[in-house]
Amino acid sequence: MGVLYPGSFDPITNGHVDVIRRLARAFPKVHVAVLSNPDKSSWFSVKERMEMIRKSLRGLKNVRVTAYEGLLVDYAKRIGVRLVARGLRAVSDFDSEFKMALANKDMAPAIDTLFMLTDKKYAFLSSSLVKEIALYGGPLKSFVPPPAERALRSKVKERAAGKSAG
Ligand code: ADP
Repeated sequence: MGVLYPGSFDPITNGHVDVIRRLARAFPKVHVAVLSNPDKSSWFSVKERMEMIRKSLRGLKNVRVTAYEGLLVDYAKRIGVRLVARGLRAVSDFDSEFKMALANKDMAPAIDTLFMLTDKKYAFLSSSLVKEIALYGGPLKSFVPPPAERALRSKVKERAAGKSAG
């Protein structure tokens, strides 16, 4: 049975990697799906985000990295997966995740949501936090896999160059 792990992954962090590794041990197939959402402003394009995830998960043979747009439940049906995994870091994640899972259950009763608790090492970690640290040149090594660190550093340079040109 496969499991779908959707998210923005802008960029992938060690918290995501940890969840994916655990899912890959528990299920024969993990579909990591990058949400392509034109309404949400992101640092990285969907292609860049997929590249970073692929490079960060080399060696995990049962993980497939894809992208989707539109409703998650429609995508899950399309690829024939009935289980969606989400990560929970703190109570603050719970409220929105709970509502989303119930809405998805209402729209697609055959699809279930599975919550994976974060490892306590990563409980504070988010993509927005690592972008903020990167902006100010802070240390990223313990927060993101090396491909994401490289991508963050070059994105910060690109953004700085764009700003001074504009
Ligand atoms: P989204 O915009 O869909 O929340 P994210 O990329 O921020 O996308 O997160 C994808 C999933 O991973 C979410 O379920 C989120 O709660 C979970 N997640 C994010 N950071 C961590 C972490 N440090 N530990 C465990 N789960 C996490």
